[in-house]
Amino acid sequence: MQNVLEIISWYKKNLRELPWRQTNDPYKIWLSEVVLQQTQVVQGSSYYARFIEEFPDIRALAAAGEQEVLKLWQGLGYYSRARNLHKTAQIIDDQYHGKFPDDYKSLLSLPGIGDYTASAIMSFAFGKPYPALDGNVYRVIARLYDIELAINEPASRKVFIKILNEMIENANPAEFNNAMMELGALVCRPEKPDCLNCPVSGHCLALKKGTVSKRPVKNRMVKRKKRYFNYFHLSFGDVHYLEKRGAGDIWQHLWQMPLIESAGELNEADSLICMENELLYSPVYEKGGRKTVKHILTHQDIYAVFTEIKLKRKPSFRKDGFLQVNKDEVLNYPVPVLIEKFLLSL
Ligand code: SF4
Repeated sequence: MQNVLEIISWYKKNLRELPWRQTNDPYKIWLSEVVLQQTQVVQGSSYYARFIEEFPDIRALAAAGEQEVLKLWQGLGYYSRARNLHKTAQIIDDQYHGKFPDDYKSLLSLPGIGDYTASAIMSFAFGKPYPALDGNVYRVIARLYDIELAINEPASRKVFIKILNEMIENANPAEFNNAMMELGALVCRPEKPDCLNCPVSGHCLALKKGTVSKRPVKNRMVKRKKRYFNYFHLSFGDVHYLEKRGAGDIWQHLWQMPLIESAGELNEADSLICMENELLYSPVYEKGGRKTVKHILTHQDIYAVFTEIKLKRKPSFRKDGFLQVNKDEVLNYPVPVLIEKFLLSL
């Protein structure tokens, strides 16, 4: 296919030197792919370097504690990625003697590895012809072939994969996947694609038909959710109190100040009544400052209010599971970015 040759030849002249492109070690490739999901290359690169330094191979990662992995991940968001990274490392260590399986089905059975990551590992580490279909590649193909199907509908994937399977057939799989992603990232950008300097503009159907800005098509996403978090920054002398977030929600297993989530915004008096009714038995305290922060996640907006409470006697909590930590130790625990920013602002 002529367009494949043109894309690869463009890639060889324009590629960015990225650390994970200098290796075919499946551990490093997998790590880079997981770190880079929903993350910009610049930010992802520093996390990748930190992980490689701390855990140079899969056995080192498998031997680490979950809290250690979460702490290193702090700030990247989507913490389930870090938990899955750790679980997968342990499975590979236990069941595959520390070596990544080199077949697609086994890769797919591992936590956190979906079609895209399995294809990336198969092509970059093992040289097998599996097209890696990420957001950049969806966009290039949707424009090149002027495809009207919504890319967020699961059924569309087959159509894109069929085209890519034909394209990758006669190419070096790693080079082809890298070239497609790079073209999407540098030239066929979401806004203002650089069609004048595109190596395949002569074949591009969307350019010919004037539909570039309408491709790719996406169906409307679900409505954003609003949540109201009332954090109580409790201290008794130098001792601070933390709780661990449970399963089934954002920031699973990260630490935070005691929290009461409410259905709507609470004024100060109501939030203190909630604290006395739901969190502590007969607290004696002096109220400090109150700070409101809006924190935006992909599908939800968090309206957080932090209230500083200086306890005058040791607290008696209405439920178990609170941890006492020294003031200087709070940031040694993995916490959501929202909490970290608040603590650093004090
Ligand atoms: Fe994308 Fe423009 Fe190239 Fe078409 S010509 S693939 S729209 S950059």
